[in-house]
Amino acid sequence: MVKNDPFANATKQVNDACDLLGIKDPGLREYLAMPNRVLRVKIPVRMDNGKIRVFTGFRSQHNNDRGPYKGGIRYFNPEGGVEYMEREVMALSSWMTWKCAIVDVPLGGGKGGIYVNPKTEKISEAELERLTRGFAFKIFEVIGPGKDIPAPDVYTTGKEMTQIMDTYSKLTGNIYSPGVITGKPISMGGSLARNVATGLGAAYCVREAAKTMKLSLKGAKVVLQGFGNASTFAGEYLEKMGAKIIGVSDSKGSILISSGAKVSKIIEYKQKHGSVVGFPGSKKVSTEELLTTKCDVLVPGALENQIDAKIAKNLKCKIIAEAANGPTLPEADPIIFQKKILVIPDILANSGGVCISYLEWVQNNMGYYWTFDEVANKMEKNITKGFKDAYEMSKKHKVDMRKATMALAVQRVVEAFNEKGIWP
Ligand code: GLU
Repeated sequence: MVKNDPFANATKQVNDACDLLGIKDPGLREYLAMPNRVLRVKIPVRMDNGKIRVFTGFRSQHNNDRGPYKGGIRYFNPEGGVEYMEREVMALSSWMTWKCAIVDVPLGGGKGGIYVNPKTEKISEAELERLTRGFAFKIFEVIGPGKDIPAPDVYTTGKEMTQIMDTYSKLTGNIYSPGVITGKPISMGGSLARNVATGLGAAYCVREAAKTMKLSLKGAKVVLQGFGNASTFAGEYLEKMGAKIIGVSDSKGSILISSGAKVSKIIEYKQKHGSVVGFPGSKKVSTEELLTTKCDVLVPGALENQIDAKIAKNLKCKIIAEAANGPTLPEADPIIFQKKILVIPDILANSGGVCISYLEWVQNNMGYYWTFDEVANKMEKNITKGFKDAYEMSKKHKVDMRKATMALAVQRVVEAFNEKGIWP
């Protein structure tokens, strides 16, 4: 058993949703919780020094009742090792299923990754390319534009997506297949607005949540945990809506800036100094202090398992927008609900990424491309509707947003499953 098993967390959320929906059949509950297939591969790579290093990679395909599997590929080395990572991608693939269902895009859930940390390990660009292409070779039979469509995730970018697309195209007889993967650079068939998608989607969610609470975003205080793609763009778009960033963190530490600071200035500082820590006028604090500082909106945009019961008890925010996947432990949820903090759960708050991935795939399939605004407007519609549907569900059943969002998503998948039935 792995510690803090993320898949146990995902399974609990599915079971809670089933309880709410009155789904009692243990078989159906198991079907909804378990991935359809988990592929674990060994990837041998000839390193620059001539030696062979063997990496472990995964692709978990959770559910495809509503459409092809969809979800990112991360390059990461979680503390629990490869066994933990397997459980992690299983959980993340489950969350992708519910994420696509809640914003009503016709896709299922998948997730993958390689146990490697390109940020902290000494691994050259050429080695990384051999690893990426080796991984693509190992999974190419189970992916495809109508089968399973990967995307970027933690520490992967458009570069890896291009290499996977190219490897796939060559292995399938040189068929131009941009729709096999999303998050590609624009020149490779990527979509405008995909790079800002997760953060923009999170900002739209916060705007909707603030409306329901009659909270003005003008001058609202925002804390961002993490300073990667999701949180920086969430911060920039919230700034455009009038909010002020008063705290941020990265892997080197957390800071509070009581008078507030522009995201662009913090990015500039980080580019020069390698971290947000030391930003002029800021105070270095612990992760716990950052998360529990008094603010209007808290955006956990880093990794899993950040908010436990102890932190939950001390939270002093009004809205939590989970830009990261799985930042809150199940033990924290009832405490947060009791404190009347509105949580926009991960599967909704960070669904902007997969929404625009879906739009990228649509554009690839039709071979015709939309403008930035066209793409952003379409995504805004899906997200706002997803938020409203989930919010109504939470009011109807008097449950927290996570339970409501999950239940609605599960209901949509069950509907598709029932339409098809079981065959063979
Ligand atoms: N990795 C992102 C996520 O977790 C994007 C997935 C996708 O675009 O398919 O939502």
